[in-house]
Amino acid sequence: MPHFVEVVLPLALPKTFTYLVSEAEYQYIKKGMRVAVPFGKSKIYTALVIDLHQNAPTLYQAKEIHQILDEAPVVNEFQIEHWQWIANYYMCSIGEVFKSALPSGFLLESETIISAKKESEIDGSELSDSEFLIYQALQQQSALKVEDIVSILGKKNVFPVLNAMLTKNVLVLQEEVAEKYKPKLTRYIRLQEEFLQQEQLSELMEILSRAQKQRELVMHYFQLNAKEKKPVSVKQLLEISGSTSAVVKSLVDKEIFEEYYIAEDRVSFEKDDETGFQLSLPQQKAFDEIKECFEKHAVTLLHGVTASGKTEIYIKLIEECISEGKQVLYLLPEIALTTQLVTRLTAYFGNQVAVFHSKYSNNERIEVWNQVLQNSEKAKIVIGARSALFLPFSNLGLIVIDEEHEQTFKQFDPAPRYHARDAAIVLASQHKAKVLLGSATPSLETYHNVKAKKYGLVELFERFGNVVLPQIYLVDLKDKYKRKKMNGHFSDDLLEAMTEALSKGEQVILFQNRRGYSPFVECMTCGHVPQCPSCDVSLTYYKFKNQLRCHYCGHSIANPTHCHACQSVDLSTKGFGTEQIEIELKKLFPEKTIGRMDQDTTRGKFGYEKIIDSFKNQEIDVLVGTQMLAKGLHFDNVTLVGVMNADNMLNQPDFRSHERAYQMMMQVAGRAGRSEKSGKVMIQTYNPYHNIIQQVTHNDYNGMYNELVYERHNFKYPPYYRLVKLTLKHRDFDKLKEGSLWLYNVLVQQLQIPVLGPEEPAISRIRNEYIRTILIKIPNQNHLGQTKKTIQRVLNSFEAIAQYRAIKVTINVDNY
Ligand code: ADP
Ligand code: ZN
Ligand code: ZN
Repeated sequence: MPHFVEVVLPLALPKTFTYLVSEAEYQYIKKGMRVAVPFGKSKIYTALVIDLHQNAPTLYQAKEIHQILDEAPVVNEFQIEHWQWIANYYMCSIGEVFKSALPSGFLLESETIISAKKESEIDGSELSDSEFLIYQALQQQSALKVEDIVSILGKKNVFPVLNAMLTKNVLVLQEEVAEKYKPKLTRYIRLQEEFLQQEQLSELMEILSRAQKQRELVMHYFQLNAKEKKPVSVKQLLEISGSTSAVVKSLVDKEIFEEYYIAEDRVSFEKDDETGFQLSLPQQKAFDEIKECFEKHAVTLLHGVTASGKTEIYIKLIEECISEGKQVLYLLPEIALTTQLVTRLTAYFGNQVAVFHSKYSNNERIEVWNQVLQNSEKAKIVIGARSALFLPFSNLGLIVIDEEHEQTFKQFDPAPRYHARDAAIVLASQHKAKVLLGSATPSLETYHNVKAKKYGLVELFERFGNVVLPQIYLVDLKDKYKRKKMNGHFSDDLLEAMTEALSKGEQVILFQNRRGYSPFVECMTCGHVPQCPSCDVSLTYYKFKNQLRCHYCGHSIANPTHCHACQSVDLSTKGFGTEQIEIELKKLFPEKTIGRMDQDTTRGKFGYEKIIDSFKNQEIDVLVGTQMLAKGLHFDNVTLVGVMNADNMLNQPDFRSHERAYQMMMQVAGRAGRSEKSGKVMIQTYNPYHNIIQQVTHNDYNGMYNELVYERHNFKYPPYYRLVKLTLKHRDFDKLKEGSLWLYNVLVQQLQIPVLGPEEPAISRIRNEYIRTILIKIPNQNHLGQTKKTIQRVLNSFEAIAQYRAIKVTINVDNY
């Protein structure tokens, strides 16, 4: 009897494949090991064994595997089961899940390009002969394909050698950007302790009586210290005193001043040792209630207002869980948030904390993967963005999902288009683990599950340490414009509040949900608006670069001097984005430092971190940004948050726009006044009586929830219906139109549930591809699996039609 393995290939193929192995290999191989297999004409892929059997495939002749790559499984059975669930639920192939789950260093294939790692200094004696050959070859040539290495070594089986070299950290995969961000250290200065007493002061002045410059500098230091009540950086001191660093140096040499450094990613200046803290009474109560809820509900929602100290509650729960020897997964919606959290958690748990996300290098990700696989002490607690969900946990006790309402938990492209919160709940149930969802503004879906008693609920409605929730003020823009109380896009009220906060050395956040200078340019003579030639959108104006740019494909042109339709020179910009606010701010507050955080300023691996660091470090006084600012960041010194224009959030063509507007406004508002200094929020709007704006002002989550679920029910949307969205794309408008109509008609016939479309979306062409969408609404009471099967069957027939084959179809289950 021949022996076979069933493997998953890292490709978008709906099936698993059968390969032939020898009997010895059959005895050796375990599920979850990787094997290299030939596929197609000449390609070699890394595949995952998910089964061993003796059934020859009926449709093809099984090929032999190339070789075994592991000595022990790198993927466990929990994972295989979970990935199968994801593939099934989100209607993609398990190969796609496999591909996105494993660090790419685990997935070598013949086309993979590798290079030598730059900084690593290797002792040749640590390398085997084959490894040394590869190493040498890479000194001559900066990059090689795996195929090339096959010929260098004169053997087919090169994956094990490469795997070993990746583990030794001498190789990198080409796809990695070699950017490395070292957290900037800022030099601070303080008086040596012996001079802190009042009596010693005159003594100090005495010592310095003959060093005029040093004496002046010390005086400036006192002034600054008294005024700002925060650490004094050398930079700041030099700026104010007009002195030089030589003077600072002599004071340090004389041991009057002492220097110290603070990394900008430190959470706060005051607390040196965060290790010991006690839950406040309300926190303790919430903590006890959570544990009570867990008795009945595996999933519990902690609905706690911003800055209520949810993180501290998570920490106590995590502590209990790891003391029972279990693993913890802590999911965050945004990689940018990890730095702050890692600092907080490592302060408490030391090196039991590991971090895993897509911006980590391959080698770092492989290291964490292996630690989790071995259930190592170094990775008892894993912090990560959604992909951390795929790690080889074997003994999960708790999953914390912070900011559970965030839409970034949903993977958009490519497949698997999974929702990390929902997939995590399934993962937890496999491990019989608990899930804690945390949010100040829970998603309607989650809250609906609470009301249906599927999830437990714990509420925490006060901020930690008697800090009050910020006061929210509305500014009626219509009235302000009429009475000429506007300066650019700033109302007199907002300017006054800003001036006041800034004069006290406090910081300000301004929120505008659009980037660029203005979203479009319009001809005042004929009304022509310049459009992107490849996409169905108007071009955004960037003043600084004097360009018009497309946000969908990056196409840009020089800012036109006259209308391309009628030659008129009377062009005007419409609407405004973050760049325009930044420019206005520089005029209004010339002596303040203005920062901007949006997609245009946060490119690059550490784009976010750099801006967040310098804001936290108080090198920026006013930070203007898009919704990136609304995430769970904690800045001690921010007392004012301004929403420049609430209306464009409310007018989005999306059934979630009101829910999102509420969440976004509450979350940005939540950045204000998070420590002793009380906070203020100013919302500028043309619709101060809009329900959502009123609900935000009154912190009325329940009002918002009740109103919106009523609408969702009436208009057949989640949480009452599940959505499956099909997106069809093709360069040929007519073919797309015809194909999508065919698909729509068949779906309607087959499904007997609401099917909408085929619709031209608001942006109906991107990069010269036309787009149509079909939305299927599956009532909760319908059998989901059955309906999806039918949809899949229809899609299979669609693909079988020759003239439609070139139309690309993507499936998005639980579309966000
Ligand atoms: P949330 O996540 O609910 O928005 P955080 O967990 O960020 O709130 O807490 C807000 C602030 O209060 C943080 O600076 C945090 O360190 C502090 N804090 C919360 N609880 C405690 C506690 N029990 N002891 C000391 N500091 C706390
Ligand atoms: Zn014109
Ligand atoms: Zn474009």
